Amino acid sequence: MKLRIAVICVLLVAALSVVASYLYVMKDRAVAETEKETIVENLPEEKEEVPKVELVKYEGPVHHIFFHSLIAYDELAFDGDSRAEGYNYWMTTVSEFEAMLPELLDRGYVLYDIEELVEIDSETGEMRKKEIYLPEGKKPLVLSVDDVNYYEYMKTDGFATKLVLDENGEVANEIKTPEGDVIVSRRADVMPILDDFVKAHPEFSHNGAKGILALTGYQGALGYRVTDLTGEELNLAIAEATKVANKLKETGWRFACHSYTHNQYFKNYTVTMAQLKHDNERWKKYIQPITGETNIYISPFGVRFKRTDERYRYLVEEGFSIFCPVQKTPELSFEKDNVIMTRFNLDGYSMAKRKEYVKETYFDVDKVYDSNRPELK
Ligand SMILES: [Zn+2]
Repeated sequence: MKLRIAVICVLLVAALSVVASYLYVMKDRAVAETEKETIVENLPEEKEEVPKVELVKYEGPVHHIFFHSLIAYDELAFDGDSRAEGYNYWMTTVSEFEAMLPELLDRGYVLYDIEELVEIDSETGEMRKKEIYLPEGKKPLVLSVDDVNYYEYMKTDGFATKLVLDENGEVANEIKTPEGDVIVSRRADVMPILDDFVKAHPEFSHNGAKGILALTGYQGALGYRVTDLTGEELNLAIAEATKVANKLKETGWRFACHSYTHNQYFKNYTVTMAQLKHDNERWKKYIQPITGETNIYISPFGVRFKRTDERYRYLVEEGFSIFCPVQKTPELSFEKDNVIMTRFNLDGYSMAKRKEYVKETYFDVDKVYDSNRPELK
């Protein structure tokens, strides 16, 4: 089977070079099977036949949406405690995320790898926008998830507590149910839900791309408290977290630095060079061994430094060539050694306060909005 698919790919390349690795035709196994037969049978006479899925150059804006860890149990998140209002603003619930995906698919969005938006000009050595080829009517979509750390303060509020590998070796979440049982779930956060959605709808992902996980470091990574533990416990946690990270990378996910501290001094732009260096050095020391190197910096609080700011230049010099702040409208702008790609939050705040924009651009909020949310003040 694998060999036959490889053969088909080669034939497709011969027929039309730009379709080289595009797996869109595989969305429906039955259809794909028929197409393969047709192509194989017709090959000797009709080598030039254009494949059914032709790719066209995409010229529109590239959208980048982001989330935080999802609320899996509404009754624990919206229980009226001091954190409930924040969750109502800045978080998305599992039922909302699950409802968004088919809507985004319907609108023609296709998950796209952020690294595929960038290429290096071989003559000048400078970064520039790489051309995008997708089936007619499809639109690239970059997705990211912030603070995939499963912080202590969220533990009793209906969020997952860590990422683990389930009995099939796939990325899943550990979560405590409202009844107090600790279970492994595929419906508690973005990653397993999206993995399963793409499995059912491969046409929602370009070449298997999924999204970017932005990690801080002060409470470890992916729910593993590698910054607090010592000895054997530490070794075990690092090994487990690395296993999960490797599986994520194998399945279309990427990692980004989201700062180590997520300190308020980012929010008000008062972070000094010394603080930023210390922050970045700790991220590289404790978190990068788990995630591997990354050139993506997802700024805490969505802040955006001026490109000439010495703090921004420091991050670029440290290897972060793709910088993602928050902004309503999509922007993808290039300088010779860095790229800025803005992101939009699809959370309670945006769905309530920017309902029309969300409807025009992504989905009808009324079809998605979780009725368990308290009224947004
Ligand atoms: Zn954050």
